Amino acid sequence: MLPFLPDNKNFSYRDNELWCERVPLKQIAEEFGTPVYVYSYNSIKKAFLAYQQALKPYPHLMCYAMKANSNIAIIHLLAKLGAGFDIVSGGELRRVIEASGDPKKVLFSGVGKIYDEIAYALENDIKCFNVESEPELERIIEVAKAQNKVARISLRVNPNVDAKTHPYISTGLKQNKFGIAIEDAPRVYEKASKSDFLKITGIDCHIGSQITDISPFLDACDKLLDLADVLKSKGIELDHIDFGGGLGIVYEEGQEVHHASELVEALHQKMENRGYGYLEMIFEAGRSIVGNSGVLVTEIQYLKEGETKNFCIVDTAMNDMIRPTLYQAWMQIAPLHVYPENCPIKEEIFDVVGPICETGDWLGKDRKLKVQPGDLLAVMSSGAYGMTMSSHYNTRLKPPEILVDGADYYVIREREKIEKLFSSEHIVEL
Ligand SMILES: *Cc1c(COP(=O)(O)O)cnc(C)c1O
Repeated sequence: MLPFLPDNKNFSYRDNELWCERVPLKQIAEEFGTPVYVYSYNSIKKAFLAYQQALKPYPHLMCYAMKANSNIAIIHLLAKLGAGFDIVSGGELRRVIEASGDPKKVLFSGVGKIYDEIAYALENDIKCFNVESEPELERIIEVAKAQNKVARISLRVNPNVDAKTHPYISTGLKQNKFGIAIEDAPRVYEKASKSDFLKITGIDCHIGSQITDISPFLDACDKLLDLADVLKSKGIELDHIDFGGGLGIVYEEGQEVHHASELVEALHQKMENRGYGYLEMIFEAGRSIVGNSGVLVTEIQYLKEGETKNFCIVDTAMNDMIRPTLYQAWMQIAPLHVYPENCPIKEEIFDVVGPICETGDWLGKDRKLKVQPGDLLAVMSSGAYGMTMSSHYNTRLKPPEILVDGADYYVIREREKIEKLFSSEHIVEL
């Protein structure tokens, strides 16, 4: 039986070899070395268009939450498909501009926006600031006043709904640092409405990531529309409603997720029922656009028999892919070559671990694998929160990124060079 693949359209086994679209992954590993991130353009495009098409009948803006994967080539291609962008830093806005994206389709989220970032975003006339606190609102007024401009804003409210996801990626509960408590929102909106330097355009929430069920989104929508009713009674009208991040994705076999159209239809039905069908619908989806569109290919260095466990030591580590150790995330690890049933290599249970000097440096635990040293493995569903969360820990160079389109592939980031890593450091003689 062939190993499970979360996206079995764009990643598939052909004659027991794992391919991305029409390219054998082994060919890419041989050409560029390992570890290497490989993305399927057609998988990204399909995931983006699933939202875009579902939203088509309604006023909408589909924003890509670029912190999931911010490679400039990917930003550029999504911009060409009509994407707006959800950014969380000035650096990300720089990337949008560098990739020829449209700043007028940019939303700026995040709890700690600094002066320079607000000024830079305002200079570039972004669509909207998602304001996460009262002091931030005051700071935006200050910056807008200095530039003699009007900043478009929405408040990110915390609807206090349980997204039932991992605590580190659950963001819509009272104890989280994000957003403005929904009870305080009417007062803060009124305050904003009195400033000559602000224009209220919307309402926003983001309750968490990797939410596989639709009901938390609907609960949040209800609370947002309750708030819209209150605002209406105070004479504050909205143009858009922003539901935050997109749906979760399949990491494990047997997991079910809803199609984007189910989410969009269910939300729009609710808006319609409550007289808000005219509002522009916004999503800030990251994981569901790129997550299943990427794999991280790694080579097995050693198979080591421990006292109680077997270890499969690979050349990829927590600095390249931190999700397993940070979130206890389960990611499928699939061999690039599947050995036939009758081959003498024994199937064994391994912890798949990296070379870093940390017990937390693992990619998967208790995995059944039929492998030998030198074999290649793919960490599936690595397209989101993989490369963007990578670091140089242990002076490890960041992997290259390759984008596949049909039978063609392109280097969208080169393997880092050690000289570049050292170029900003300076020796002092004391
Ligand atoms: C991370 C984040 C997103 C993206 O969430 P996904 O689950 O990747 O779709 C959207 N909005 C905000 C404010 C975020 O912080």
